[in-house]
Amino acid sequence: MTLFGAGMMLDYQTLLISLGVSTVCLLLTFLGTWMARRQDGFLLTCVTGLAFLVPGIFSYSYYTEVPLQPVAILCCSLMLMGFATIYGASRQFRLGCSPVRDAVRCSVLAGAVTVTPILFGLDGLGFVGLNVAAAIILFATAYEYWLARAEAPGPLLGMTFLYAATAISFVLCASAIAFQGQWVLGQAPDNWAENLNIGVCIAGMTGIGAMSLMVHQARLTEFHRKESLTDALTGLPNRRALFEAYEKKSFTHEMAVVVFDIDRFKGINDQFGHAAGDAIIRLMADELRDCVGLTMVSRLGGEEFAAVIRTAAPGYAEWLAERVRRHFADREIRVLNDTIRATVSAGIAYGRSEGSDFDTILRLADLALYQAKRSGRNRIELAKPDLMAQVADNRSLA
Ligand code: GH3
Ligand code: MG
Ligand code: MG
Repeated sequence: MTLFGAGMMLDYQTLLISLGVSTVCLLLTFLGTWMARRQDGFLLTCVTGLAFLVPGIFSYSYYTEVPLQPVAILCCSLMLMGFATIYGASRQFRLGCSPVRDAVRCSVLAGAVTVTPILFGLDGLGFVGLNVAAAIILFATAYEYWLARAEAPGPLLGMTFLYAATAISFVLCASAIAFQGQWVLGQAPDNWAENLNIGVCIAGMTGIGAMSLMVHQARLTEFHRKESLTDALTGLPNRRALFEAYEKKSFTHEMAVVVFDIDRFKGINDQFGHAAGDAIIRLMADELRDCVGLTMVSRLGGEEFAAVIRTAAPGYAEWLAERVRRHFADREIRVLNDTIRATVSAGIAYGRSEGSDFDTILRLADLALYQAKRSGRNRIELAKPDLMAQVADNRSLA
């Protein structure tokens, strides 16, 4: 049989072999990509799925020439294990869970409906089982990528479409055998649907391969973007993230910025060591994270933090900052035989009713923090209106 009729001379064997070869190429590409970043287990699961499909395809190719029952069982089992593992990969991609349970459960169920009839001599029925099972697994895989589409809509919708199209071609294969009532075949099924199916599989394999790599790339880019905006020591957003979020926002009187700075921190480092200093920084980060009411908290650098407060009624920012100061002073950490306590000072600045830029408000909060330090530390200070004029002057001079 040929894909495009006798004139084109693309015989079924050639198509099967090209499918096998393109599967090997895809397997190697996935393997190489996975080796560059091993955290992405989903790629390794795809590799495993393809590693089942490759011998499945070649043994099926052998079966079309030598239709022995054990070969039929072997190729059907390998192909179903391949599809089931690829389904497991889609679950792993979406949920981050281990693919093993889904893949094994799927393989056993699909294998049973396919292999049992073949063992009883009903190989035609077995091939119907194979096609139906493959279609269900592929539809389920398409559904997983459909559910995950928000992450990278273009390639994920493309993958959904290609998995669904491949699934439909398997439904057609099952229908072609069933409509002719070929429950006993004695050879590989040979009809128009099989030829269509192999064409769809080649196109699907290539397209799905390319799009899986695009999705992987998108995930990698997002990972690096998040990493560049996160402070490694505390896990809080860093200075860059804070500026990205607020530098273009106008700060009205309903918004405030609080800058915190741990008191006499150099002394803590000197007396107890850098590791103890780090622990104190993390403690402060926890305190800020636990404080309900702070819209965004960021580690500006060193032992300095900034918090943005929205919908702050008059006095609300002072109340929150004071609560953080008090709770932090009550916390303690143990380092060897010592118990360390630290205090923090804070400077607060509100926006103006006509709106103020973030940079100005942050500077005001910084100046207020400086006042708090000069007034003895372990206290909060609000930026006074005269500071506002000072900052405005500095800006016009700059
Ligand atoms: P003040 O009360 O005036 O704030 O005094 P201070 O000692 O806290 O003064 P300063 O803010 O100048 O000290 C900051 C110190 O924080 C200097 C630096 O060695 C230390 N530091 C900066 N980053 C880190 C860090 O990631 N870990 C630790 N352990 N120390 C850091
Ligand atoms: Mg300090
Ligand atoms: Mg400091």
